[in-house]
Amino acid sequence: MNLFATLEDLPFLSACYIGRIPGVQLPTDRQEALKAQIPFFKKTVKEILPAARSFFCAQEVHGTEIAIITGSAPQEDLVPNVDGMITDEPGIVLGITFADCAPVWIIDPQRKVVALVHSGRRGTEEGIVPRAIQLLQTKFASHPKNLIVTIGPCIRPPCYEVDFAKTIREQAAQAGVHEIRDKEICTACDSEKYYSYRREKGQTGHMLGLVMIR
Ligand SMILES: [Zn+2]
Repeated sequence: MNLFATLEDLPFLSACYIGRIPGVQLPTDRQEALKAQIPFFKKTVKEILPAARSFFCAQEVHGTEIAIITGSAPQEDLVPNVDGMITDEPGIVLGITFADCAPVWIIDPQRKVVALVHSGRRGTEEGIVPRAIQLLQTKFASHPKNLIVTIGPCIRPPCYEVDFAKTIREQAAQAGVHEIRDKEICTACDSEKYYSYRREKGQTGHMLGLVMIR
């Protein structure tokens, strides 16, 4: 399994993402592929995050809705109609699936609150990252200057004509974030490690970004 840790310098949380799963044949239909992967994702979360109490995965509609997840939330696997989630409760795992769109971790190490959003071309145009930053400010008293924004693997130029990762960096900076991390990994450039919806013409699996406060 291609498992990549991220934000390892922040000991109060566990953050990682699962890339391509080698040797697994997935259904060609996107929704079917996702359905087929959810049981694997659940099992994997239990293995790699044994302290997890619950696991929430955003259903994702390329919109800007963001759910605040608490212990009292219903224990559903998929949170409907959202492309982002925020929590400040230890043991709750947030999961975002992606296959060209960017997973974006927005972390407040001072207030110990985490957001994970799905920002592709459309979500970026509609400003899901600034919206998450605003929610962190209004609901959790975060200061943008304390936030760490990390952009994961996504499709980028020249593989894709729209540089939404660059736009996300600009949006975060404009919102007052000082620390923006981006290793500039392109999902379409490395088929060994990543799935790419566009390169594989839709016949692809999903990767999974995760975060949990310990
Ligand atoms: Zn590329």
